Amino acid sequence: MGHEYCGIVEEVGSAIKTVKPGQFVIGSFCISDNTCLNCQAGYQSGCQNLEFMSRAQAPFLRVPLADGTLVPTPELPSDDLLPSLLTISDVLGTGWFAADAANVKPGSTVAVVGDGAVGLLGVLSAKQMGAERIIAMSRHERRQQLAKEFGATDIVTERGDEGIARIKDLTNGIGADSVLECVGTEESMMQAILCTRPGGSIGYVGVPHGMKLDMWPVFFTLVRLHGGPAPVRRYLPDLIKLVWERKINPGKVFDLTLPLEQVAEG
Ligand SMILES: [Zn+2]
Repeated sequence: MGHEYCGIVEEVGSAIKTVKPGQFVIGSFCISDNTCLNCQAGYQSGCQNLEFMSRAQAPFLRVPLADGTLVPTPELPSDDLLPSLLTISDVLGTGWFAADAANVKPGSTVAVVGDGAVGLLGVLSAKQMGAERIIAMSRHERRQQLAKEFGATDIVTERGDEGIARIKDLTNGIGADSVLECVGTEESMMQAILCTRPGGSIGYVGVPHGMKLDMWPVFFTLVRLHGGPAPVRRYLPDLIKLVWERKINPGKVFDLTLPLEQVAEG
């Protein structure tokens, strides 16, 4: 958490056409013009004028390229919707992209590696996309509960070779159609790759840390890899609608609320 934001517009620059003071808006953690060729293709996180939002834990925030970055809600939201609306800006938008990039379709078998906020909301996203079986890999009891609430049908606590074997046991011995990688280590990436069936897809959204992928074993798995920083802007209108109509409650991932003065503690 740190670069997601939502709030009421106080003031706009003279060039801004679509965003108006008084509106409640949500933006992506990627600043985009939403007009260049990459944005038009739905990859606003690859915008030719891309910037990353930071320092959003503040009473006021300046959002560049506001017309291309912000999407208003239909009216001012009630307070109970705020946690869920905030998740759209990053953790939900990212979990959604992981599921989309992993090609989750109605009837799919899905495995989710990682049980942080993004992984849990990847479970929620896969459920919304019609996945039939969703296997959450998690060792934390509270997160397992939330994963089940969000739509997980199976929980796998094992990792490494044992985790891969458990996923294969649950998927006719071949692996899942779609795997969401929501951690970003070499171990989690290999876990994801080896849990995917030949021809299956991996959506990877874990920010890589210390990862050096050995392509030799990967080559023979016949998997598709698609990932990176999520083009949240593409999904904002649909995700706002789902929250607004109370069809999903992603705000449940928040387990602690602190005032801004205690943001460092948070
Ligand atoms: Zn662009």
